[in-house]
Amino acid sequence: MNKIKLHWQILISMGLGVIIGFIFQITCHGNPEGIVYTFVTSLGVIFVRLLKMVIIPLIFSSIVTGVSGIGGGKSLGRMGIKTFLYYLTTSLFAIIIGLTLTNMIQPGNGVNLGMQESFDHSKLQTPGSPADILIRMIPLNPFNAAASGDMLGIIFFAIFLGIGITRIDSKHSEVLRNFFNSLFEVMMNITQIVIKLAPLGVLGLITKAVATSGFGLFAAVGKYMLTIAGGLSIHFFIVLPLLFFFFTGINPRKHFSAMSSALATAFATSSSNATLPVTMRSVEKNAGVSNKVTSFVLPMGATINMDGTALYECAGVLFISQVLGIDLSISSQFTVVITALLASIGAAGIPSAGLVMIFIVTQAVGFQDADVAIIVGTMLAVDRPLDMMRTMVNIFSDSIGASIIAHSEGETLYKG
Ligand code: ASP
Repeated sequence: MNKIKLHWQILISMGLGVIIGFIFQITCHGNPEGIVYTFVTSLGVIFVRLLKMVIIPLIFSSIVTGVSGIGGGKSLGRMGIKTFLYYLTTSLFAIIIGLTLTNMIQPGNGVNLGMQESFDHSKLQTPGSPADILIRMIPLNPFNAAASGDMLGIIFFAIFLGIGITRIDSKHSEVLRNFFNSLFEVMMNITQIVIKLAPLGVLGLITKAVATSGFGLFAAVGKYMLTIAGGLSIHFFIVLPLLFFFFTGINPRKHFSAMSSALATAFATSSSNATLPVTMRSVEKNAGVSNKVTSFVLPMGATINMDGTALYECAGVLFISQVLGIDLSISSQFTVVITALLASIGAAGIPSAGLVMIFIVTQAVGFQDADVAIIVGTMLAVDRPLDMMRTMVNIFSDSIGASIIAHSEGETLYKG
């Protein structure tokens, strides 16, 4: 039998999901239910749960193996500097695209959202200060961090454990290295099994996303959505591939195809964290990047390096200011750029995290929560498709970062 390639299977299920979701949307007026709906959407829930199940042991074993394999402090420091430079530069590029497009298109001008009142404000939580992010990285109890899924806490402890392993007697370090390496191999293997279920999972997730979205609002804020989608596309199709080509000399199409399952998973789940196992597997097995680099760049990148979210924060706040009829000065726009960067660093890799973080940026430029909440409420109602796109951009940027850094460390990519 001629087997259809996985990425085609996923694309077909996306199409099916849109059709089925649309039927539920029309027939159930945004309140879908029934046995068929429950069955199909449960496939999505199961898929996401399976992905989440592997995240903690996968990133933990991967980081410990990677960092203990990098060796001494010097190479770790070098990799660290390159990684953070990459995170910072690409996020800033993305923000500048968002800033330019929103200033040019002015999607918020003339938009009146005062009427769409039926929004539950308690859905929105205001996040803590960006300065907390660094301090909160240090877990009080690493086991607790693992149990509660605190990604930055786990990453912080795993890096330290990896460093510790390089500093002890080889009699002890060998045992630990072998253990974590074996655990990592097993987790990658389990991830492979979960990836095979992606078409079913994607079908369930897309069905639900389409069936429950508020299409009516899309028209009111269509220009806003197109502006963000346009900005994300420029970053995704032009900026990141050019960077990839410039630094590695490899045709970016190869990378798009290597990352297809991960991109589809990001699109369907709207979560960089849930996609992380697929991203790691695709970057290692398809692009040929070593575990040393992937384990360092990808888990941290899933939380810290969010180009799509950064672009969104900036464009979103400018949109809010336009709806409010406030002209932001150059210095306020500069504040937006910096806080958008911080907000994207602080946003967790979960659905809609970027939207919640927008309060950091609005507060920084002095908008009152009350003015802003109603607009953010509307933005929330139409957030899902934008979230899907920015999550794709987020994980794509991580994967390109891993490839560029691996290339700069002398690795040969795409050997196979
Ligand atoms: N959902 C995005 C992610 O997981 C974060 C965001 O909401 O922007 O990458």
